[in-house]
Amino acid sequence: MVDVKAKLQEVFQLQKMHQHVIKITCAEERIEKLQKLKVEILAQAPAIIEALQQDLGKPAFEVASSEMLSVISEIDYYAENLKQWMEPVEVPSRNEGAQAKIISEPKGQCLIYSAWNYPFMLLFLPLIPAIGAGNVCILKPSEMAPATSSLSVKIINKVFDESEVAVFEGGVDVATALLELPFNHIFFTGSTHVGREIMQAAGKHLASVTLELGGKCPVIIDEQVDLEKIVPRIASGKYTNAGQVCLAPDHVYVKENQLEEFVRLVGEYIQRSYFENGELTKTDLSKIVNERNLQRLEGLLEDAISKGANVRYGGEIEDRRFYPTVLTDVSLDAKIMQEEIFGPILPVLTYTDLEDVINQINARPKPLGLYIFSEDQSVVNSLLSQTSSGGATVNDVLRHMLEPNLPFGGVNESGIGRYTGIFGFKEFSHERGVLYQTPVGSNPLETFAHAPYKGKLEMLMQRMK
Ligand code: NAD
Repeated sequence: MVDVKAKLQEVFQLQKMHQHVIKITCAEERIEKLQKLKVEILAQAPAIIEALQQDLGKPAFEVASSEMLSVISEIDYYAENLKQWMEPVEVPSRNEGAQAKIISEPKGQCLIYSAWNYPFMLLFLPLIPAIGAGNVCILKPSEMAPATSSLSVKIINKVFDESEVAVFEGGVDVATALLELPFNHIFFTGSTHVGREIMQAAGKHLASVTLELGGKCPVIIDEQVDLEKIVPRIASGKYTNAGQVCLAPDHVYVKENQLEEFVRLVGEYIQRSYFENGELTKTDLSKIVNERNLQRLEGLLEDAISKGANVRYGGEIEDRRFYPTVLTDVSLDAKIMQEEIFGPILPVLTYTDLEDVINQINARPKPLGLYIFSEDQSVVNSLLSQTSSGGATVNDVLRHMLEPNLPFGGVNESGIGRYTGIFGFKEFSHERGVLYQTPVGSNPLETFAHAPYKGKLEMLMQRMK
């Protein structure tokens, strides 16, 4: 660890010197770097798929669609828009003849932590705005996805010099050693628990933070909707990556008299999507990342059952794969309703009055995402206006994250700050307000604010009326 700390210091100092060179790069130079990254990612596509299969048993399609495509699309989006985002923005000035401009400058030295559930995407997606905004960076991949972590080192080292972007692999020891360094900005994706520690450590150096955390994302289904049509959207969002998705529907609220139909339809979806001749088709369902998380999920299930829950589908475990599971009759006191599930277990709760649903949601920390299924705009408006969440999707799940013109992030316990698209560029930039004053002598009122003040107070008071 002594050696790692010394190396961290060395790279940090190197980047400290080099940040000024990177800061003055133009849009074309930054885009060129991002394009180089894109070429390398595409060249490494088979290795990326292989690494994620090793770490999470992730289906190749899901690797391509959710780990790689989002990174490639974001690079393309930056290539189209970065030049315009970097332009100073002129705003009206109160001083006649003067010019007021907002100039985006890089924050400087940034630190990016990735979580293990999308270990590739969560490392590279924030790197794009960091580079686009002209920063130098140190990346810390998740140690719980070791194959992806070591491949990321290979990709970064091929594209960037360590004076601009460097990667440090390792566990909590490396993660906490990094926090001792006076970075200008820390971008963290992970649990709310560790997020608090990051914010506390950032306080020592007054570093700004982006915290992309988790939470219990609820789904609310209005009784008017056609369940047959919407269930595939909810179920695919729940069981993709075996529910190990920060935005996955955590639990569902359905009108009491629709419970049975909803459960039956989810069961049919599970059969259709994950089983062949009664056997689990392992190629399309990710593994639970490790034994510890498998035991955590088993513990949540056992606790729910002990408090009255019925397992309607699933519940079995095979080869670190947790079968897509549906629960009914779940007590609100069960642990599964207190903490983020982060696995393929779906509690289906019922309501008779939407007010009760609103009260339950508002009694918990604000979630990262909230999903409403309704054709009735007044129901949608009422649910949106009486709740809060990082983001929301109406009549689908997860999708707001894929919309580059919307900010993505949490609120309070589900996170602080946002990214993707221009919001990421702003997150990694400092918006510097610059006033270009008029020449001396061109404004007859200029000396009004200079001493002596005799006789001026009355005029000033008069002006405020
Ligand atoms: P985690 O908090 O355990 O780890 C995240 C990162 O923090 C890792 O790189 C880890 O090495 C590092 N870390 C661990 N302990 C640390 C410490 N004491 N000090 C500093 N760094 C430390 O999270 P995880 O288990 O990898 O990820 C799961 C969580 O992440 C879930 O809660 C999920 O909802 C959330 N998540 C959020 C998003 C989002 O975009 N909002 C995306 C994915 C996952």
